[in-house]
Amino acid sequence: MAPKFQGVDFYDVDGLLSEEERAVRDTVRSWVEEHVLPIIGAHYLEGRFPKPLIPQMAGLGLFGANLPDAYGCAGLNNVAYGLIMQELERGDSGVRSFASVQGALVMYPIYAFGSEEQKQRWLPKMASGEVIGCFGLTEPDYGSNPAGMITVAKETKDGWVLNGAKMWITNGSTAQAAIVWAKTGKLDDVSSIRGFIVPTDTKGFSAKEQKGKLSLRASDTSELVLQDVRVPLDALLPKSGGLKSPLQCLTQARYGIAWGAVGAAMACYEEAVGYAGSSCSRRGSRRCSPRSRRRSSSVCSSAGSRTTARRRRSRSRSPSGTTSTSRPTSRVRPAACSGRTASSPNTRRCVTSRTSSRCIPTRGRMMCIPSSWDRRSRG
Ligand SMILES: Cc1cc2nc3c(=O)[nH]c(=O)nc-3n(C[C@H](O)[C@H](O)[C@H](O)COP(=O)(O)OP(=O)(O)OC[C@H]3O[C@@H](n4cnc5c(N)ncnc54)[C@H](O)[C@@H]3O)c2cc1C
Repeated sequence: MAPKFQGVDFYDVDGLLSEEERAVRDTVRSWVEEHVLPIIGAHYLEGRFPKPLIPQMAGLGLFGANLPDAYGCAGLNNVAYGLIMQELERGDSGVRSFASVQGALVMYPIYAFGSEEQKQRWLPKMASGEVIGCFGLTEPDYGSNPAGMITVAKETKDGWVLNGAKMWITNGSTAQAAIVWAKTGKLDDVSSIRGFIVPTDTKGFSAKEQKGKLSLRASDTSELVLQDVRVPLDALLPKSGGLKSPLQCLTQARYGIAWGAVGAAMACYEEAVGYAGSSCSRRGSRRCSPRSRRRSSSVCSSAGSRTTARRRRSRSRSPSGTTSTSRPTSRVRPAACSGRTASSPNTRRCVTSRTSSRCIPTRGRMMCIPSSWDRRSRG
């Protein structure tokens, strides 16, 4: 089924996409519309990640989607992977962040720096969502400067012992496995930084969710504490070495985050245009202009109007002369009415429009302002 959201495409970016890339985007877009948008507002307010989405995302192949199918991944190209991140973030930044961390910060380092055994053991389970991972690089005192990290890994005859703390770790309390970055040499030896796969049920490992964020509220962000955490020798990612290894992972993640930012912008634009299109009672009138809105009326102080929307559309004609703007689906609007209302015990209903409303004289005629609209313009 084609997704409801069509967006705008002033530069005909769609024309640059292959059929497969468009199909991937539309599949994720429809899924976001159906499964993310209806529930994410409540999760955002409650500061809780919607865990039932995890198996669905795995079923769509969204985890590590640009990694090879030999490890149970979708094997998509980087554009299709980016489009997935765009659509997820159009739904919610925390949902995109979940998939980014799982794919780019957990599966990617195993793929890039792990042994073949590690890849076979972990990647298919991570692609299927059976194992969720997190990426522990940032520390309480070392965020922008990860080279200063003080988490250490000491080699023993049968493994490694890890000690330290990591801060602001996405998926930290959800994860079954953590990629932990630690110094294996002296604290001033940045080249000794190595990555370890640490099962989160290992003795000495604990995670505590950091509550009260002002953004990315539906995302699990946690502090990790490692106190004499013992892991076997093969927990080390053998090909990791120096700070460039975790930074390489961040580069992977940032690629997806950049696509995600486009998705967030698309959502903001859609919301703003939809709001403006539904809340100006002067729509269609010559009096609805930026000047008249500036001059007075709270009714017209909303973020836009049909006039500005039309202007925006004509400004953004594509080189071929066609516009690709799709009008947002309109919401409740003021409507001309007879001004007669019928009262029930709790509401007043406009006899003409049959909505629960307030009928007011406007420009010499009666307009019916639906009460939902009234609440919105106040809020
Ligand atoms: C929601 C969320 C999720 C995260 N997920 C993860 C994750 O999964 N894994 C992980 O390892 N980390 C994660 N992080 C941590 C993130 O990478 C760090 O927040 C980031 O690196 C910045 O570190 P900091 O918060 O300690 O800020 P600081 O380093 O304290 O910086 C604070 C401010 O000072 C500025 N600043 C710092 N140093 C300098 C300087 N030398 N000169 C000028 N200005 C400077 C910075 O630009 C910034 O504006 C997450 C963070 C957030 C908020």
